Amino acid sequence: MNPQLHSEKHEVDVCVVGGGMTGLIAAVAAARRGAKVMLIHDRPVLGGNASSEVRMWICGAHGHHRKETGILEEIQLLNLARNPQGNYSVWDTVLFEFAKMTPGLTTLLNCSCNDLVMDGNRITAVNAWQLTTQTWHTVEAGLFVDSSGDSILAPLSGAEVRWGRESREETGEPIAPLKADLKTMGNTILLQLEETAEPQAFTPPEWAYYFDDESNLPSRVGNGFGHNFWWLEIGGLQNTIQDSEKIYDELVKTAWGVWDFMKNRGAHKEKLKNWRLRRLGSLPGKRENRRYVGPHVLTQMDLEAGGEFGDVVGYGGWSMDDHHPAGLYYPGKATIFHPAPSPYGIPFRSLYSKDITNLFCAGRNISATHAALSSTRVMATCSILGQAVGTAAALCVEAGCLPADVSEGKISTLQARLMEDDCWLPGHVRESSPLMRAARLRASAGDAPEVLLDGHEREADEEVHAWSGPAGASVELRWDAPKEVECLRLVFDSDLSDDKRMPCRYGLDDEPMRVPESMVRAFTVEVQTADGQWIELRRVEGNVRRLWVLPVGKVVAGIRWTGHSSWGANDLRLYSLEASATPMPLTQTPESGRRWAELVAELPPEDLAEPDHGLESEGKGTSRVGA
Ligand SMILES: Cc1cc2nc3c(=O)[nH]c(=O)nc-3n(C[C@H](O)[C@H](O)[C@H](O)COP(=O)(O)OP(=O)(O)OC[C@H]3O[C@@H](n4cnc5c(N)ncnc54)[C@H](O)[C@@H]3O)c2cc1C
Repeated sequence: MNPQLHSEKHEVDVCVVGGGMTGLIAAVAAARRGAKVMLIHDRPVLGGNASSEVRMWICGAHGHHRKETGILEEIQLLNLARNPQGNYSVWDTVLFEFAKMTPGLTTLLNCSCNDLVMDGNRITAVNAWQLTTQTWHTVEAGLFVDSSGDSILAPLSGAEVRWGRESREETGEPIAPLKADLKTMGNTILLQLEETAEPQAFTPPEWAYYFDDESNLPSRVGNGFGHNFWWLEIGGLQNTIQDSEKIYDELVKTAWGVWDFMKNRGAHKEKLKNWRLRRLGSLPGKRENRRYVGPHVLTQMDLEAGGEFGDVVGYGGWSMDDHHPAGLYYPGKATIFHPAPSPYGIPFRSLYSKDITNLFCAGRNISATHAALSSTRVMATCSILGQAVGTAAALCVEAGCLPADVSEGKISTLQARLMEDDCWLPGHVRESSPLMRAARLRASAGDAPEVLLDGHEREADEEVHAWSGPAGASVELRWDAPKEVECLRLVFDSDLSDDKRMPCRYGLDDEPMRVPESMVRAFTVEVQTADGQWIELRRVEGNVRRLWVLPVGKVVAGIRWTGHSSWGANDLRLYSLEASATPMPLTQTPESGRRWAELVAELPPEDLAEPDHGLESEGKGTSRVGA
């Protein structure tokens, strides 16, 4: 650190490095659970490979009611409501909102972490350079989360990592190569196409690679519309960190060449007549490099056995999607999809370093073999692991302990908190609160409401677990004697068969993105006071949240929820209506934007004085536009 440059020091409980989907969600989860958190991210926008800079869509576990929930679902639902056209700038600002408006969380953007301070086998601080402010930031914390993808804190701290493919002899994994090597999956820049009403010509730069015919792109182009250019992949035979810039140079020449071929010579060029390039990525997405070694290294066999770990804190369910390391140079299929069960559980012991006592890892860098990573790396899986790690970090802060101590005696607390925050843990059922066990339930119409007590908040087992009833119907909780109620937890049906992805291309007839029809759109919550009066606690219009936690903070004799409308479905569906005597993290909504005029009125008048340069022609210049 150069002392001539400006520097700032921060003290927090938890420092998260890397603001991809994983790191962002880890930071929000830790802050919501009461920790003071710093998120350090080296790019101007959040989301990593899902951001506008890379534009990869978020995938997760395959199958009916397997969709990942928690903070990821909250983000994706808000995006559906705010961003019907699937505009990436809007998506970026949805993520910005979570990073910048979550109480307890501070986010440093354009800030690259590149140094740290150790005390024995514990990290005490990290240093990061913020490009835009020319400032060195030092962040002291009790706990660190490495969600940088590239595991930047590993080489800096000496934590053990793995790189490349393990041998079959070492791990016993049937899909592992016979000999271990340092090959990985490669990097990619994405093309995004858009359809127009007229024919569009395309001339590539002279330096683009030239693809003669389909044999140069075997099994790659698909239906011709380049729905998703994930296969535009190079670099798995190199070092995807140190050679990243060289790989990028090759990717640019390749990407222009691929589009030239598709547009001007390919089998589908007629279909693509009216299509043009909307964007060519400028930041390669990375798939694989350093993976931490934790107390447990997740393997292919773990996945295939369903991951029935006692310390399960997340799950996967994407196939083992093992790309050939030669990427686009390889004349065969770009990837092999080896089946994996959906879901399979992922243990907490794969989410922290075995060497550095206060270091969590989350994202594509978790403690897993290459074979297991080929499935766990998808972003919805990474996101729920981020939530698990953020929640665990806050638990460590509260209990004054380290990640290994959570493994030793606090796993059931962590699991209960994750489920409370709408994270599904396969094989686990949420326990009803004592208040609910004492309550009498009554619905004014629709199904019997006792289903709300069954502890299931999705239909993963094909059984019905939601109460449903017509618009206007109410569900009531009543007690024999008034009870002290701290908060009310509601879970709606956000259609967990729907992927809620951002688009990869833009066709003229594409349907706009929409909030799922099954979501409750408007509802009211009333409470009955001890003297029998019903008072309105909250009225919500335009709801886009699956999970609500509303403060009650009263002694009440009853609670009534009334559903007024959905986003399209006939019936309104509820998975949870739970009164609790103990606090839960409340659902936050950002403050409304201030009135501009008020803000300007607060500025010192001298800052707003008329410009006075002593020139007669002031304000009468010839320029007609600002610059
Ligand atoms: C082309 C491509 C196609 C893919 N296809 C899919 C798909 O269809 N669906 C899917 O879900 N997944 C897909 N994946 C996989 C997925 O994108 C990654 O595995 C996932 O993004 C990993 O998440 P992460 O949070 O660990 O890392 P990232 O998303 O890479 O986020 C890490 C962030 O940390 C930041 N960072 C790095 N170093 C530092 C530092 N020193 N200081 C501060 N910040 C730092 C980085 O800028 C980055 O934004 C694909 C990946 C690629 C490259």
